[in-house]
Amino acid sequence: MTTSKKIDVLLVGSGVMSATLAALLNELDNSLSMMMVERLPTVAAESTDAWNNAGTGHAGYCELNYTPMSDDGVVDIGRALAINASFEASLQFWSYLVEQKTLPMPKNFINPTPHLSFVWGNEDVDFLRKRYDLLKAHHLFADMEFSDDIATLESWMPLIMQQRDKNSKSRCNPR
Ligand SMILES: Cc1cc2nc3c(=O)[nH]c(=O)nc-3n(C[C@H](O)[C@H](O)[C@H](O)COP(=O)(O)OP(=O)(O)OC[C@H]3O[C@@H](n4cnc5c(N)ncnc54)[C@H](O)[C@@H]3O)c2cc1C
Repeated sequence: MTTSKKIDVLLVGSGVMSATLAALLNELDNSLSMMMVERLPTVAAESTDAWNNAGTGHAGYCELNYTPMSDDGVVDIGRALAINASFEASLQFWSYLVEQKTLPMPKNFINPTPHLSFVWGNEDVDFLRKRYDLLKAHHLFADMEFSDDIATLESWMPLIMQQRDKNSKSRCNPR
């Protein structure tokens, strides 16, 4: 015999997106009945599992593919701005949940760390410089730095600079 249960929200999959949506909906209306279904025997075992992703909050700081350059050399920062703004909204939501004691101490699940893009070769260095100039002018990326000074690069990323040809053109911008 088939039994049916009436619910307001059905969340398909137990990854971070379902969990976030459920937490948001619960804040908006805690009378909503919700059900989460998962095809695997455990939760958060796909992309959300820390061993299955890169482990950083994508915020557009160092993901160079978020700022593509067209054939005529124009860098489009629109996607990086949108993603960074979305990430800020996530940070605000998590902060709120920490204040409500729904989430544990932030250091148990998220920690700030410098993001760094490193490129070499004239073409890529020109791209990084353009990207930096455009992003730096925006308040979301105002802290961004750029350097082509070897000593500075060595202090930012000693292992990457080890045994590197100091005459080759390489630059980076951390944030
Ligand atoms: C290699 C890699 C690296 C990444 N690195 C980063 C990173 O550094 N920073 C970042 O912000 N993002 C990163 N991402 C993206 C991020 O991991 C995903 O955007 C996020 O985890 C997606 O969450 P989700 O809940 O949508 O999906 P998932 O965590 O994949 O959850 C989906 C769940 O749905 C279940 N499911 C699917 N179909 C059904 C069904 N029919 N019925 C029931 N259950 C079902 C699955 O079993 C799974 O548990 C990375 C992703 C990948 C793949």
